[in-house]
Amino acid sequence: MLFAGQLSDEQAQFREEVRAFLAEHLDAGMVAADDAQRSMVADPERSKAWIALLRPRGWHAGHIAKEFGGAGLSPIENYILHYEMGLHGAPALPPMGLYYVAPTAIEFGTQAQRDEIVPRVLDGSDYWCQGFSEPGSGSDLASVAMFAERRGDAYFLNGSKIWTTDAQHANKIFCLVRTRRENTRDALSFMLVDMAAAGVTVRPIRLFSGDHDFNQVFFDDVEIPVEALLGEEGNGWAVAKFLLDIERGAFVFGGRLRRRFVRLCERAQNCATPLAGLWDKLAQLDIELLAYEVTELRLGHAALDRSNADAEASVVKIEWTELAQRIDELHIAISGPETLYADAAARGASTRDEGIAMPDWLAGYFNNRAASIYGGSNEVQRNLVYRALKQQRRR
Ligand SMILES: Cc1cc2nc3c(=O)[nH]c(=O)nc-3n(C[C@H](O)[C@H](O)[C@H](O)COP(=O)(O)OP(=O)(O)OC[C@H]3O[C@@H](n4cnc5c(N)ncnc54)[C@H](O)[C@@H]3O)c2cc1C
Repeated sequence: MLFAGQLSDEQAQFREEVRAFLAEHLDAGMVAADDAQRSMVADPERSKAWIALLRPRGWHAGHIAKEFGGAGLSPIENYILHYEMGLHGAPALPPMGLYYVAPTAIEFGTQAQRDEIVPRVLDGSDYWCQGFSEPGSGSDLASVAMFAERRGDAYFLNGSKIWTTDAQHANKIFCLVRTRRENTRDALSFMLVDMAAAGVTVRPIRLFSGDHDFNQVFFDDVEIPVEALLGEEGNGWAVAKFLLDIERGAFVFGGRLRRRFVRLCERAQNCATPLAGLWDKLAQLDIELLAYEVTELRLGHAALDRSNADAEASVVKIEWTELAQRIDELHIAISGPETLYADAAARGASTRDEGIAMPDWLAGYFNNRAASIYGGSNEVQRNLVYRALKQQRRR
């Protein structure tokens, strides 16, 4: 949350510009669909439509420098843009291309790779998915087994990736793979793979709600050119870590959380049988949310320029995911039996929504249970914070 005194005249003017844009372009249908979102990532058709509206101003890529085709917003402008979009219920932008691949290609890619990758992400030609986790490698990501064997001018990939969100929609996948048999981090490499390559098979994994969000992707002797390596061979861990720090800590969640909280308060006001201590609980959440918003702003995560600040990224990840879960838990608690006897008409509006009907707050609750797992579980994030503090103390 930004207080009037925290903004310069130009920044306040920029916020007005963003608000006017949202008032003009964000329609009630888009907002309702966003509130009812059941998946980690917005439905691609919905986010594409929103990106088309943002593109003329470059606001779909505010964090990308002008020389690479983005709007090159300052950290505070980017914060304002994303805070306001979240607060007003704009569709979330798909992160895998715009936030993960494009900045990582700018940081680690050759000029030819930047020229190829970044414009195709920005103009929507490529839709990326993330191939990190494997059946035996989640928290211990450095143990990935998928092997890329070099034969002449090509690598041949064998193995599988799992929990791959949106692989069914993606035409590209980035993968952390092993290029040597040793169990060391310098045996890992980062590769960019065309989903249409021979030997790639996508198998859906259904959620218990019946929805189709993620998949297992199999690679059966998939040939890719050596140019598909991002960064040097053996430097994949550094590339993956850069990307993971973005995934965990570089987004602005404050606006979305505030919107969720306001909706919870509205429901609490209309609650037939208020829960004991409800207003104390709301006040406590409000205070913690404000502390989170101030922290997010202070760390300047919107800038995507602190991507090596891994402990900070972990703190942000723990905080927003657990706050979101607590807001949702209170929503469930005050909703009572209605939660169980969901009206079919309340089904979420996403086209992924192939599963059982449920009202949007319940869908949000289930969706957010996964938030403390994806991007690296919160238990593992706590380990990382502890390790960083220990190192700091030694210095
Ligand atoms: C909705 C969703 C979408 C996802 N999308 C993708 C995607 O697109 N691409 C992708 O690559 N992956 C994706 N993932 C996978 C995600 O990154 C992993 O689920 C996560 O890293 C945890 O790994 P795991 O599931 O193998 O659990 P495990 O690593 O087996 O962990 C199991 C439990 O043990 C705990 N644990 C493990 N190690 C430690 C430790 N050292 N200290 C304390 N506790 C520990 C964990 O916290 C967890 O509670 C997604 C996951 C979800 C839920």
